[in-house]
Amino acid sequence: MFDLTIPGFGRLEITDAVFDYNGTLAADGLLLEGVHERIRRLRSELRMHVVTADTFGSAARELQRLPCALVILDAENQAEAKRDFVQGLGAAHVVAIGNGRNDRMMLKTAALGITVCGIEGAAPEAAEAADVVVHHIVDALDLLLHPKRLLATLRA
Ligand SMILES: [Mg+2]
Repeated sequence: MFDLTIPGFGRLEITDAVFDYNGTLAADGLLLEGVHERIRRLRSELRMHVVTADTFGSAARELQRLPCALVILDAENQAEAKRDFVQGLGAAHVVAIGNGRNDRMMLKTAALGITVCGIEGAAPEAAEAADVVVHHIVDALDLLLHPKRLLATLRA
């Protein structure tokens, strides 16, 4: 867990991280460089979950050695399914990380939403729903490993 009080934003007591897969942790179905070791380092701080439509059918293989629970979604109503998953964990204790239009609802409902604008870009709805926008997943993971970095971005 990380526990951080941000003036004008509130107190973040985060126990769970929920990640989108393609465009966020992965490109063309393959985990991006730098993700593997950071996810391993985060395991002592956060429970981690990956929610994905798994377009390339590669998520289970790519994540097999990582401490992440994998949830594969049906093709329909993905935005609602991602939001419902975050709510089921307890949205007040969740950081959500994504890039797509179907991530917008989980980004909004989570206590902290981080949008990654990587090589696939980010949907404007995802950026609008987020608290922080970063340009690479490594930066998002480093924010979770060093949460005090959020202070300067989010304080009023
Ligand atoms: Mg995506």
